[in-house]
Amino acid sequence: MAKQKNSPAAEAIEQLAHNGADSTANPAAISAPLPGSEQTPGSGQTSLAGQAGNFDEENPSGETPYDPAPAPRRVSAYAVALGQLERVSDFMNLEDDMRVYLRTCQRELIVHFPVQMDNGAIRMFTGFRVHHNMTKGPTKGGIRYHPDVTLDECRALAMWMTWKCALMNLPYGGAKGGVIVDPATLSKRELEKMTRRYATEISPFIGPERDIPAPDVGTNAQVMAWIMDTYSMHIGYSIPAVITGKPVAIGGTLGRESATGLGVTYITRAIMKQRFGRSLEDASVAIQGFGNVGGWTARTMHERGARIVAISDKFGGIYNPRGLDLRQLQNHVQETGTVLGYNGSETISNSELLELDVDVLVPAALEGQITKQNAHKVRATIIAEGANGPTTPEADQILADNGVLVIPDIICNAGGVVVSYFEWVQGLQSFFWNEGEVRRQMERTLLDNLDAVIGTTTRRKCDLRTAAYIIAIERIEEAMRLRGFYP
Ligand code: NAD
Repeated sequence: MAKQKNSPAAEAIEQLAHNGADSTANPAAISAPLPGSEQTPGSGQTSLAGQAGNFDEENPSGETPYDPAPAPRRVSAYAVALGQLERVSDFMNLEDDMRVYLRTCQRELIVHFPVQMDNGAIRMFTGFRVHHNMTKGPTKGGIRYHPDVTLDECRALAMWMTWKCALMNLPYGGAKGGVIVDPATLSKRELEKMTRRYATEISPFIGPERDIPAPDVGTNAQVMAWIMDTYSMHIGYSIPAVITGKPVAIGGTLGRESATGLGVTYITRAIMKQRFGRSLEDASVAIQGFGNVGGWTARTMHERGARIVAISDKFGGIYNPRGLDLRQLQNHVQETGTVLGYNGSETISNSELLELDVDVLVPAALEGQITKQNAHKVRATIIAEGANGPTTPEADQILADNGVLVIPDIICNAGGVVVSYFEWVQGLQSFFWNEGEVRRQMERTLLDNLDAVIGTTTRRKCDLRTAAYIIAIERIEEAMRLRGFYP
C-alpha cells in the first residue's frame, strides 16, 4: 500500500499537539481524525470521606476519580509520540497496516482503588499500566507518580519504551504506568499503602516474564522495593526479577541509580567528539530537572570536567556562568528541598534556562518542554534529551533549521533501561556483577547502538532521531514478520 501523505491521522496529531490535549481515542482508528480529548487535571485523588459526612472539596459530587474532561497543560506527550512516529513512517514509506500496528497499544489497564489515609479517611486513586508492544519480549517501562499522569501519557511513554528497547537490542517491548498523585503530599506510610495497593491492582499485568516495571518521575528504589515485596507476597516466594531499579540489598544491581544520567553523559561525550571534535572538558551545560536523571547527569558531566552553569527543578532554576559546586548544591537541596536559594547563584525561570547560551542543554524533567513557541530561542549547540519526549516534532524542525543538534531520548537516556535489563538478567540468574562490569557493558551497549544510529544518518541522510527510529522500527518489523500474526 502507498504511504499516507497528509493523512487525517497526521492532521489530527498536529491538531492535538497545537491544543496540548491528549486523546483517549484508540490510535488504531487511523482513518478518522483522533477525536475528542481527555485530560486528567490532577484530580485523580478523591476522598470517600464525604460519604462519611465530611464534605470533600476535591470531589464535591463524588464523581469517578478518572475525569476525562479536558484541562489545560503542556503539550501532549501522546501527540508528540504519534507525531514523531508519523514523520518517520512517512520518511520510511511505511505501509498503512504497519503504521496502525505500531501506533496501537496492545493492552491498557485503568485501575481505581481506595487507600486509608493516616487520618482515617478513605481516598480514591487512579492508576494505569499500558503495554504498547510485546513482539520482541516481555514489556518494560517505568512507573510515574505525578498529578498530571493520564492514560495518553502512559501510552506515549510506553511507545517510546518500545522504540528504546528495540534500538538497544534488548529482548523487550515497551510499557508504562503511573498513578495520578503528588507523592510529596503523602506520608511515607500512605505512600507505601498506595504503592502496595496499586501493585496489587496491576499485578495481573506484571511479572518477570510478562512486564517488568522500573522507576520514573516521582518513584524511586524504595517504591520498587514495596512493589517487589507485594508481588512476591502474592506469589508466595521472592521474585526480584519482577521489577528493576530496586535496592541492591534485595537483588538490585550496582550502578542502576546513576545509569540514566551516566548514559546521558557517555552519549553526549561521544557525540561532542564525533560531531564537533570537542571533549566535555569545560563545556558549559544547563540542566532542567534535578531528580534522578538531571542529578546524575550533572554529577557525571561535572566529574568529566564540564561546567554546570544552570540547574532547575519544579520550583525554578539557578544560574552561575562560572559553574555550580555540585556537592554544595546537593547539600543545599537536601536541606531545603529545592535548588532555589543556593548561595552564589542567581535565580532564573525554567524557560530562561532553556534559552541559555550553553554548549549542552539537558532537558531532564518532563515531556513537551521545547515546543514551536520557544524552540527558536534555544541557543545551545546540543540538546541532550535526558527526559522522555521533551521536544515536539515542530520544535525539532525549528532546531534543525537553526543548526541545533538534538540527541534523541531513545538513545540519550537509554542507559537506564540497559542497566535495568542487566538487573533483570542478574535477578533471573541469581548471579551478580560488579559495578565496573555494569558500567562497561552499559557503555558498550550505548556506544555500539550510537554507532549504528550515526551510520544510518549518513546512509539515509537524516537526523539522529529519524535514524534511531528507523533502526528500532526495522528491528520490530523483522520480529513481527518472523513471528507472524496469531492465530
Ligand atoms: P525525578 O522525579 O527523579 O525528577 C524529576 C525532576 O524534574 C525533579 O527535580 C523535579 O523537581 C523536576 N521538575 C518537575 N517538573 C518540572 C518542571 N516543570 N520544570 C522543571 N523541572 C521540573 O524523575 P526522573 O526519574 O529524573 O525522570 C526525569 C525524566 O527522565 C522523565 O521524563 C523520565 O521519564 C525520564 N527518564 C527517567 C529514567 C530513570 O531511570 N529514572 C530513565 C529514562 C528516562
